[in-house]
Amino acid sequence: MPPSATHCSPDRMPVLFVGHGSPMNAIEDNLWSRAFRELGAFVPRPRAILSISAHWFLRGTFLTGEEHPETLHDFGGFPPELYRISYPAPGDRALASRAALLLEDFGASLRTDWGLDHGTWSVLMHMFPEADCPVVQLSIDERLPPSGHLEMGRALAPLRQEGVLIMGSGNIVHNLRDAFGQMARGTCVTPDWARAFDEEVAHALDRHDAGALAMALETENGRRAHPTADHYLPLLYAAGASHAEDGIKYPVTGFDMGSLSMRTVLFG
Ligand code: ZN
Repeated sequence: MPPSATHCSPDRMPVLFVGHGSPMNAIEDNLWSRAFRELGAFVPRPRAILSISAHWFLRGTFLTGEEHPETLHDFGGFPPELYRISYPAPGDRALASRAALLLEDFGASLRTDWGLDHGTWSVLMHMFPEADCPVVQLSIDERLPPSGHLEMGRALAPLRQEGVLIMGSGNIVHNLRDAFGQMARGTCVTPDWARAFDEEVAHALDRHDAGALAMALETENGRRAHPTADHYLPLLYAAGASHAEDGIKYPVTGFDMGSLSMRTVLFG
């Protein structure tokens, strides 16, 4: 992946979906953490980042309004050094308010009791290690159908002209039961259904086929790839904010822990 020629914001920022995978990618020097670092050099420097993480999945549409969002260690059973990580990026209350206005029809509002969860910081600490780019998180309303998440992505698209990097963070295949089962058995095999779903989603992205993306979880492979929808839905915000004329690139592909798709999508 070549570094970008300029770090100035272009007229319209690209949109990103990142497969974040294990929290251990935050502290390990591995294939994925190196790929996240390269990604930081590849995308234009944003004025601010709006992150839609799989790990803020609840009833309602909220934006983080903190001036100094806390680094949340929202996981259990990992080594102590992971809990000592701090990603002190500033918040951006003006951006949170602007996004809430764009999402007015969805009843969006600001909250100050969240922060940055690991879906956001485990990636951004490699992409933007100086933590000097303001970050706002947007929650995912668990009650909405997939089409609703696509619509919210569309509503957020004007932020691209304002120097904001819209970043969904999840995984295109995320079945932890399979992944942990493989770990317990000492295997690391990508099942056919996982590879098939990853490819089906990529084909839908290549065609800008929003209908197929919205229906993907209803398919047989989709049900196996996502026992719960949380890690798939951030992709719909990114796809929703994309335009038909955007190019689609996959700066990262492949599987971790057998069945965790690490496919990353860059629209623009
Ligand atoms: Zn996750």
